Amino acid sequence: MIRLEKLGYAYRQISSVAAVTDTESSISVLHNLSLVIPDQSMVALLGPNGSGKSTLLKIIAGELIPSQGHLGFSQELQGAIGYLSQSAQFDVSIPVSVFEVAAMGLLNRRGLFSAITSADRARVREMLARVGLLHLVNHNLQELSGGQLQRLRFARLLVEGAKLLLLDEPFNAVDEKTQRDLLRLLNEQHRAGCTIITAMHNQSIANLHFPLHIYLGREIVALSTPATAIVTAREQGAGSSFNPAELISYELAR
Ligand code: ADP
Ligand code: MG
Repeated sequence: MIRLEKLGYAYRQISSVAAVTDTESSISVLHNLSLVIPDQSMVALLGPNGSGKSTLLKIIAGELIPSQGHLGFSQELQGAIGYLSQSAQFDVSIPVSVFEVAAMGLLNRRGLFSAITSADRARVREMLARVGLLHLVNHNLQELSGGQLQRLRFARLLVEGAKLLLLDEPFNAVDEKTQRDLLRLLNEQHRAGCTIITAMHNQSIANLHFPLHIYLGREIVALSTPATAIVTAREQGAGSSFNPAELISYELAR
């Protein structure tokens, strides 16, 4: 379970005006966000650009500390979080092999200085096979296409063996076959007991594959199943007495 209680986040910005004074301003992104995500949920995180999807995932991943409120995890998820950021992280100019990149997922499990065992090697190869890259195991990063690089990032995530997977727009800029394969892998992980939260824009993928939806708007967040009405900040309008926390507990009780 992931519990957000009145969570808020504001980016602090320091701008130097003519090198005389530093002025500090902040951009409030998330505000008063309360929701509970049960273990083994498969969640689509939706909302327009700039609504705070990436910020929320970074907070859950522990990369950003909330400015307000609390974030809590069930015992099962604590310390078992895998995160795939929105931007590709690979510097393809570094001469490193497909195997070596996937094996980086072992660091969380093994620590930096312990030797890789033959069981570890088998695990890395197994995950490369699952993403369809085993035939490229000894190839260099430079030889991979964009879709193959995304498959490799998935393989590294699978090697980590996390119970909570956070993925930030993983289907962007990949072809349809890659997208289908990645969705199949996510479904498999879900069936194996993982909790999965995926930020995305594609409503039909969300409807087909993700039983729970979180919509981020400017002010209001709604957690819903695809069958229920989508409640957005715009529909509610300013000054509405709508309380998102009520909707969320209603949905979860169904
Ligand atoms: P989304 O992923 O839904 O597009 P983000 O979480 O990336 O939204 O961004 C939410 C808001 O926060 C946007 O207005 C964005 O400009 C702002 N923002 C994101 N990252 C930073 C940052 N490092 N510094 C200042 N503002 C930021
Ligand atoms: Mg984003």
